[in-house]
Amino acid sequence: MQPSLARRMTSRSLWRQKSLIPSLTRSTTNQNYICNDCLRKSRRIGARYLHQGVTSTPSIDSRTPLTAIPPAVNFTSTEKHDDALLRSIFDSPDAYKSFFKTPKPRTGLFQNRFLTTPKGFIVFANSCLKKARRVVDRVSRASSQEDHVRIIKDLDRLSDLLCRVLDLSDFIRNTHPDPNFVSAADKAFQSVYEYMNILNTTTDLYTSLKAAMFNPVVVEHWDEVSRSVGRTLLADFEKSGINLPDNSKRRFVSLSNDISRLGRDFVNAASTANPYITFTRDKLNGMQPWTINSLSRITNSGIVYLPVRGPVAHHALQTVKDEEVRYKIWKEQQTAPKEQITLLENLLKKRAELARLVGRESHSAVTLADKMARSPEAVTTFLHSMLSHTRPLANKEVSAITSQKAKLHNLTNPTVYAFEKDYYLHQVIEQQKNVLGDPDISAYFSLGTVMQGLSRLFTRLYGIRLVPRETAPGEIWNDDVRRLDVISDTEGHIAVVYCDLFQREGKNPNPAHFTVRCSRAIEEEEIIEERLEEGEGDGMATARNKDGVLYQLPTIALICDFSTPAGSSTPLLGFNEVTTLFHEMGHAIHSIVGRTRFHEVAGTRCPTDFAEFPSILMEHFARSPEVLSLFARHYRTDAPLPQELLQKRVKIGKLMENSETYQQVLLALLDQELHSPQALEKSFDSTQIYRNLDRSYGLFPHRDGEEGGSWQGYFTHLFGYGGLYYSYMLDKAIADKVWKEVFVKDPVSRDAGERYKQEVLRWGGSRDPWKCIGRLLKREDLVEDAEGRMEEVGRWGAEVAAA
Ligand SMILES: [Zn+2]
Repeated sequence: MQPSLARRMTSRSLWRQKSLIPSLTRSTTNQNYICNDCLRKSRRIGARYLHQGVTSTPSIDSRTPLTAIPPAVNFTSTEKHDDALLRSIFDSPDAYKSFFKTPKPRTGLFQNRFLTTPKGFIVFANSCLKKARRVVDRVSRASSQEDHVRIIKDLDRLSDLLCRVLDLSDFIRNTHPDPNFVSAADKAFQSVYEYMNILNTTTDLYTSLKAAMFNPVVVEHWDEVSRSVGRTLLADFEKSGINLPDNSKRRFVSLSNDISRLGRDFVNAASTANPYITFTRDKLNGMQPWTINSLSRITNSGIVYLPVRGPVAHHALQTVKDEEVRYKIWKEQQTAPKEQITLLENLLKKRAELARLVGRESHSAVTLADKMARSPEAVTTFLHSMLSHTRPLANKEVSAITSQKAKLHNLTNPTVYAFEKDYYLHQVIEQQKNVLGDPDISAYFSLGTVMQGLSRLFTRLYGIRLVPRETAPGEIWNDDVRRLDVISDTEGHIAVVYCDLFQREGKNPNPAHFTVRCSRAIEEEEIIEERLEEGEGDGMATARNKDGVLYQLPTIALICDFSTPAGSSTPLLGFNEVTTLFHEMGHAIHSIVGRTRFHEVAGTRCPTDFAEFPSILMEHFARSPEVLSLFARHYRTDAPLPQELLQKRVKIGKLMENSETYQQVLLALLDQELHSPQALEKSFDSTQIYRNLDRSYGLFPHRDGEEGGSWQGYFTHLFGYGGLYYSYMLDKAIADKVWKEVFVKDPVSRDAGERYKQEVLRWGGSRDPWKCIGRLLKREDLVEDAEGRMEEVGRWGAEVAAA
């Protein structure tokens, strides 16, 4: 059964992953990222992308530019000290060593006193389970009005007790380099997960909650946030089929199990189908020889086993001169094996059947009901609005590609076929890079300076800053992890952020934000209960707010995959890496500022199609000259970043971005169609749906007689997203609009920052996202549940691109 409590739990680990699509301009733009909780489940198909990090010392541009804006940050002496420290602990291992002054007593991971050894995970899980059982008992027996009034708080605490084990152990089993910790964390996860599954098959909690929700006298005692949490919990229970008759409930459980098995198989099989295609070496003329040598298997007789997917194949499509070779690789990428299509179609059918069982028309309708979009129709309207507004812009880019083919072969008005778009596109982009000069600006972005920049930006916008903290022995899982405390001017200590930013063997390369533990107000009676039982809490960070209420502080982990600098050299970030760090910090700031009383709606626990908005907005800050002038300085000469170099770099990042967006919109439409009621029709054929979309809207035709492929069999996001693939585009359109209306005039304005904080960030998931956006943009028409608002957002997407 789909566990309702677990379902919400997973909405907080936001992975950022390069999409796995044969998209038009994959290698050239920085917008082919999708960040979502579910991506953890869909393992990447290809090998790691061609490494583009910076390890060598870049050339120094010693001319001091005239156009650089001088930094203007005024600090108190403590702030000044923290600011300088921030740079040094990230840039210099020696400085970090000398940062540790007083020896601290040994503790557990995240200062959790249970987690000093792997065994502690089980003790921690059992301790939480014991408390959880007590809450379950109380809620199940709720009879008085008083019991019912406190039911939201009780259920929220229950959810928190389970999630604090699940979130923490899920993070550790994904990240800890020690296999003993990984296996212990996995066991703790499983034991709590099993308990949660049992909870979801018993109706007592649901019955009590429903009784409270339908009692007007009880509801009268609740504020708006409590009511919204109640509605969310009730909807989650019902989504899990809890109110179905017994035989339907059994069917629900069996379908849910099938879906999870089929989904896993679909994702796993996609990565192993036809891994290689063979050529003799001379056929690959045009490819960089070192790529062939280092990344492909070659036999003694000179046969090259070229991977069908991933960066090498992509490089081949961009560079191999022989047209037929490119066609073969492309064709192989486009054609999924029959078994893979069967797996996908079975998955889609079961999902549709499950939706019918709970009284909905389609899987999309189930998934979208509690999202910003509300319905599949609204998503389709949004996507078509995006399509029609982006098409003219994408067409311009297509004509640049066509001209390149014409020029190269001396043709008039040739057709560029789908299989050759990468080849000509690559040439267009290389030429434009030559014209612009593709500057390497990483010398202005040492990791320490970028962290300083983030802290200075947050100080300007929200009055909060990042302060380095010494860790105790046992607190972190790898030596290069750094702890930052988040300090607010008005509220003191408000969050803890652990930064694990460098590559290591076995570490997942996808950048991610984890909320290891959410914000929540701790009741006085809980404190007493804990004291009686254990003498103290688990040791993780807590603090009283201005009103004297004790809160557990959001505890966040940021994961990146930056290349480890050699020896004691300064870690320098490429511009894309700077953008990635800003993006992940955008999630973090949502968790940090969205400090709600209820764990259930804290920070990023908002509807999935709203979760990427704060992080995409941060990417705008990363490209803003005013923001960069706060910190971007040469790591040796301290010279500010020349504006011209920045402008060139930003321009290169935007090359051909409209056709990329257009392509993504098509994939989102595919995701909608496959999760529509069609899945239950006898004639359902996912390949036909894919081909029809491609024929009707695709930017590039196929060769004569070519029917198109069955690439949907490799679109593994169909499992993880299931009807939500549009989310990134929706959030990007909103972020573009908000940037333009609220921040572009003065991106470091405290007034703008405060407005954004008050209307959006501080609510976490406790306020309808439309209300957040409507109030922020002073557009009351968006707040009401009006038909046209999704279409309107579709217009925003293209409006900004055209500007
Ligand atoms: Zn993200």
